[in-house]
Amino acid sequence: MSRPFAEGDQVLLVDAKKRRYLVTLTAGGEFHTHAGVVAHDDVLGRPEGLTVRSSRGASMVALRPTLAEFVLKMPRGAQVIYPKDLGPILMLADIFPGARVLESGVGSGALSMTLVRAGAIVRGYEIREDFARRATRNVATFLGEEALERYVVEQRDVYEGIDETDLDRVLLDLPEPWRAVKHAARAMHPGGVLVAYTPQITQVVQLREELEAQGFGMLETIEVLNRGWHIEGQSVRPDHRMVAHTGFLTSARLLS
Ligand code: SAH
Repeated sequence: MSRPFAEGDQVLLVDAKKRRYLVTLTAGGEFHTHAGVVAHDDVLGRPEGLTVRSSRGASMVALRPTLAEFVLKMPRGAQVIYPKDLGPILMLADIFPGARVLESGVGSGALSMTLVRAGAIVRGYEIREDFARRATRNVATFLGEEALERYVVEQRDVYEGIDETDLDRVLLDLPEPWRAVKHAARAMHPGGVLVAYTPQITQVVQLREELEAQGFGMLETIEVLNRGWHIEGQSVRPDHRMVAHTGFLTSARLLS
């Protein structure tokens, strides 16, 4: 359904060099770049995909940000999980509408907004109050205030325990995820899925030992490599640069 841009909307402005800027629209507002000033009023009331001109004549395309674009541009404190991993996490964790999910830590909320948008009911445990607040703000900015009916973050240490019971899924992005595994095993029902994101392979080894000790099975660990291609006229080849490493994804099922 086509919706013209309105006040309060997020807009992604993309310049000729494909640089992206995320802006919240306000009547009378101005967006300043090295390439001049874009008046918000030139975007307000108009459909997505339009081209606007800055005061210095540079053209920019205006689109609503996708979830992946928002994640890369939103205010961040902690390191976020990147879109290349967020998509596979939805499949590995088998996220479905109405799934009861415990997520810890929530950081800037990139994974949170991915889960909530896929329909999950998410309880977050985050040790830092400022991150808990920022993640909640980011989720509401991208998904709307009504998303907070399915997203609540508590400021607490997941290593000390999980109060929820009968959870469908547990998602961990923590320095020492193995310290939450025992609690996860008590908080989930058999058949539930646990997925952990860890940058280091040594973390994976320690995590998997604990998963097996606590009655999880069907352990899998993968990494996701994403190689872009440069396609321009006769020049058709893989990009010279790629992100070589982000993190490992480990999934497991709770057995009875
Ligand atoms: N997945 C998040 C990023 C999480 S970064 C995203 O996509 O945006 C890791 C987070 O775990 C940090 O915010 C950190 O404060 C939090 N954390 C670390 N130890 C914790 C603990 N014991 N309990 C709860 N949160 C913790």
